[in-house]
Amino acid sequence: MLELLHGRRVCVLTGAGISTDSGIPDYRGPDSPPRNPMTYQQFVGDPSFRRHYWARNHLGWRHMDAAQPNTGHRAVADLERAGVVHGVITQNVDLLHTKAGTRRVIDLHGSYAQVRCLDCGARLSRMTLAERLDAANPAFADTVAGATGVEIAPDADAVIETTDHFLMVDCAECGGMLKPDIVYFGESVPKPRVAAAFEMVSDADALLVVGSSLTVMSGLRFVRRAARDGLPIVIVNRGTTRGDEFATLKIEQGCSDVLQSLVSALPA
Ligand SMILES: [Zn+2]
Repeated sequence: MLELLHGRRVCVLTGAGISTDSGIPDYRGPDSPPRNPMTYQQFVGDPSFRRHYWARNHLGWRHMDAAQPNTGHRAVADLERAGVVHGVITQNVDLLHTKAGTRRVIDLHGSYAQVRCLDCGARLSRMTLAERLDAANPAFADTVAGATGVEIAPDADAVIETTDHFLMVDCAECGGMLKPDIVYFGESVPKPRVAAAFEMVSDADALLVVGSSLTVMSGLRFVRRAARDGLPIVIVNRGTTRGDEFATLKIEQGCSDVLQSLVSALPA
């Protein structure tokens, strides 16, 4: 791996696998239970589904907000400071690369920390929404979170059952439907964001994929582009990925260990 990446400006593409050491589970990992991710159509089309979603998210986002970067995120930030990593495209919405100090990050699928109105486009922080949801549901967090430990999914949802009495809130500006500023299944990544990510790949000399099975096209297309451009592609992931056929090198080890080994190899 060191020979392949030596002297090259590396674009890093990360997925859920890099954040598992921060306590955010990888729902596509080989040992993880299967999940049915919510689709955009379910969210906008079904009020009871949406209520259940917001109730889970209202607990889950705090867990994500409290998560800390791990060795892997810190290694990527070190590699950027050293001039090895030239930018990061992440499929994660946890902001852990930014929290670790990486400056050039494209949050391909958005961020757990922002909420958007689907009608007027107004944005608000998840913290602001949390205050409004707490006011609308004064007893909710205590009742549910107090009962048991809450299981958290990678999209900031808590897995809970009792959501029937949860009250949603609407956009304060227009009364429209609010949605976390996260790209869900059935939704497209905004075009300018995709373009910026392609540009980051084009400006790099190598692509390093870390902790993604590349199941969805939103990530796989960057691997295809890198392959088309003849860039060396290193994939670090436990388990098969859809990009394996394009990989110059595939490493089936933990993300944090591999990234830390790159930092250790930096000249002192
Ligand atoms: Zn609005």
